[in-house]
Amino acid sequence: MDHKRAAFLTLGCKVNFYDTEAMAELFRARGYEIVDFGEFADVYIVNTCTVTNLGGKKSRQALRRAKRLNPNAIVAAAGCYAQTAPEEIEKIPEVNIIIGTDKRKNIVDAVEGYEKGRVLNLVGDIMKVRDFERLGIDGLKNRCRAYIKIQEGCNRFCTYCIIPYARGPVRSREPDDIIDEVRALAKNGFKEVVLTGIHVASYGLDFKTGIGLMDIIKAVSETDGIERIRFSSVEPTVITDSFLEELSGLSKVCRHFHLSLQSGSDRILRAMNRRYTSEEYFSACEKIYSLWPDCAITTDIIAGFPGETEADFEESLDLAKRCKISKIHAFPYSPKKGTPAAAMKGQTDPATKQDRVRRLLELSDKNRRAFFESLLGKGYDVLFERATGGGIYEGHTTNYCTVCVKSDKNIENMVLKTALKEIINEEKIKGELKQLIFQ
Ligand code: SF4
Repeated sequence: MDHKRAAFLTLGCKVNFYDTEAMAELFRARGYEIVDFGEFADVYIVNTCTVTNLGGKKSRQALRRAKRLNPNAIVAAAGCYAQTAPEEIEKIPEVNIIIGTDKRKNIVDAVEGYEKGRVLNLVGDIMKVRDFERLGIDGLKNRCRAYIKIQEGCNRFCTYCIIPYARGPVRSREPDDIIDEVRALAKNGFKEVVLTGIHVASYGLDFKTGIGLMDIIKAVSETDGIERIRFSSVEPTVITDSFLEELSGLSKVCRHFHLSLQSGSDRILRAMNRRYTSEEYFSACEKIYSLWPDCAITTDIIAGFPGETEADFEESLDLAKRCKISKIHAFPYSPKKGTPAAAMKGQTDPATKQDRVRRLLELSDKNRRAFFESLLGKGYDVLFERATGGGIYEGHTTNYCTVCVKSDKNIENMVLKTALKEIINEEKIKGELKQLIFQ
């Protein structure tokens, strides 16, 4: 073997997956072969996470596992857990390099210049970082859909969230740079882009130009070849009349909003520092449905935030029902050291949290079925993303339903009119191609 090998493992969110892909690209550009994490490699990089309860534990296990795979390898810890707890990582004897959520550009140099026997700690004060770190990649891909990171960091300090401490303040990516990447993706055949970041609604907050998220959505929608645009989670406060009016003129924007709720109780929302009320959330959903009646609205809800009573929790269930949320991502509240909520009185016991998560997921399944039922018999454009075997192709409608059809021709990366026929389960609908092709 004359070339070096690098292996990556990513824990956590889409932004972390994007960052991993960006780092892999840097190694590739320097002649490294990228191999699976379970294989023998010269460098192992674990892109750690601190957001989920298990994030830190899993990160530590992965770092140890890497050294077992090749005791002579250089093992690096990157990402949020490395950024917020470098002193804990330093105690793991298997780790050679610690790099946080900044300076990842230097990762290959750090690896190549690494001197055995030392721990190289590159973690700096993220709160002082003001620039978006441009990592040169063509987006995270599944061949049809590409994720494009448009901003980093968050200034909102929700009381349960460690992210502002792990990723620092809002830094937005220059519009020209985003559009260059979108054009390159379109040229490579990508039809769908997802504008992603830690808090996309804050896009442009750090610019003096007044440019914001809507300007980027518009610019992307003017790019030839891109047929669909999605953007990651926003709060209800983003859904103003003028925002929706502008969106209604942009036919490429998908009919799907991931609208963070977190709680349906105003008391808990205040304790979370979420800066909207349950009424505002409801009204944002109503506005969306009046524009696009078949829009999918999905959400995140935290179960068992400190002080959450049964009555508070029922308000979350009730609001999710009234807003016809088509999918709920339910999380048990998990205290994060250093956040205000972790020190709050009235921490909820684990059994109650689990029970509330279960009830949220039950509601999610019920709502999802009702949503699917409302779509049956209708025709939708489906972007087919992959073949699943046996002549079955799977793709998504603009309102993010997974649709499976049978086709004896390869329809990967095509957008085709499809009739929605039958619910397979809470995840999928069976469809039938309506558009005649290949004639
Ligand atoms: S908006 Fe709140 S929950 Fe989201 S990243 Fe920022 S602090 Fe965390």
